Amino acid sequence: MNNLIVRIDPIICADMFLAAEICPVEISGLAKVIRKGNEFIIFGEPMIPPQKCSGNGTETDFDPVAYGLWENEMVRSGQAQEVVEFRVWWHSHAWSGVGFSLKDEGTIRQFGDFTGETWVFVVVNKRGDIIVRVNLCENNKLRPVYINKICFSVPTTKESLQKIKEERKERMKAIVDSTVTITSREYVIRRNIDD
Ligand SMILES: [Zn+2]
Repeated sequence: MNNLIVRIDPIICADMFLAAEICPVEISGLAKVIRKGNEFIIFGEPMIPPQKCSGNGTETDFDPVAYGLWENEMVRSGQAQEVVEFRVWWHSHAWSGVGFSLKDEGTIRQFGDFTGETWVFVVVNKRGDIIVRVNLCENNKLRPVYINKICFSVPTTKESLQKIKEERKERMKAIVDSTVTITSREYVIRRNIDD
């Protein structure tokens, strides 16, 4: 048993699920987190870098080059302090179940090796499932802790979350359209058949 609690701001929660719902394949991004003792609060606007995903929808990757370019730009524009708040990596598994695949574990190791800091990892899907884990950095080793207690940072109902999603939907559509490239032709063919 652990006593870690993750609280999610309804806006970033809405954005992660909107990204999952809108994007036909997997999508991945970062979010901000602050730690207060045993509590982690995920908040703010998501960072969704340009990314490629193959047509079967299961091969999204967090591109370290795209991340590096973004980080450089943030530092150059005087936002270095903000960069270190982005310690949540979230991604969607589209229609598949939530959990951490072997590929995800590889990506998670990269983040740990890269920063040597505590990170929060979130997987969501189109069905509205979510799993959250914190990798605590202790003695230079990242230790995964699965979070049983996930709640909103402010009182939120199903209806109020839905309202936030509706307000932010068009904006997220534009972000998904401009950042996600689907690399396989099969997807296009399949989509035409499905349509
Ligand atoms: Zn995954």
